[in-house]
Amino acid sequence: MRFRTQYDPVNPPAVKSVRICCISDTHSQHHNIPGGIPQCDILIHAGDITSEGELEKLLRFDEWGSQIPLPKERKICIAGNHDITFARDPELAQGHIQQWTYLEDSSTEVFGLKIYGTPWSPSFYPEHWAFNVDRGPLARRQWERIPEDTDILIVHGPPFGYGDKIDNIHVGCEDLADRLYAVRPRLTVCGHIHENHGTFAAPWGTVVNACTMTGGYKPKQAPIIIDVPIVETVTI
Ligand code: 5GP
Ligand code: MN
Ligand code: MN
Repeated sequence: MRFRTQYDPVNPPAVKSVRICCISDTHSQHHNIPGGIPQCDILIHAGDITSEGELEKLLRFDEWGSQIPLPKERKICIAGNHDITFARDPELAQGHIQQWTYLEDSSTEVFGLKIYGTPWSPSFYPEHWAFNVDRGPLARRQWERIPEDTDILIVHGPPFGYGDKIDNIHVGCEDLADRLYAVRPRLTVCGHIHENHGTFAAPWGTVVNACTMTGGYKPKQAPIIIDVPIVETVTI
């Protein structure tokens, strides 16, 4: 049998990588992130920017963002359950973070990577917080909105089994994990469960829990850097 290859010697594929810096759950302590923000191509914040969505704190976050030498298209954030003003008065809150690309059940594309962001997490004291959704049918309806062609998912709460452990018990969203088996995003950036900062290999791709804050709300957990390969066709 003859081996057929799609390799084109005139236009060979070139593999490059995009360096992504992941942070989350800074709760207004962005200036205390251990080591600061390293050089990267894309900066992602996976929610809980503040403690209660205070507009003044959003402005401080925006000023800090303005000092990071990346274009707005490559500084991407979502809200978390603490960022309640984004749910109460979306236009007002979003107006306070002009330096960032804010995603809320919406997408952007950078370096050909399709990035989808969503602030929802499973209900946990929903009377206090925003973007809480009950596990089961309602959660499944939210996760259905994640597009099939998503390369990078930014979601506040982790999927069940990855970056979701507290005292050896998994508390992540089973319905989200089910959806990710179908969508298979290469990278999922989340936070919310402060106790399980780290990088995890799921069957469908990499999951990063990028919480800056520890379980005791100390800003001690460093940003997580992930290099995502992209293939470009070059003409030589
Ligand atoms: P935050 O209030 O910043 O959104 O979450 C902080 C902490 O609340 C987490 O680190 C975790 O200890 C706890 N937590 C948040 N969501 C859940 C959940 O769904 N289940 C459990 N058991 N704890 C949670
Ligand atoms: Mn948090
Ligand atoms: Mn949270």
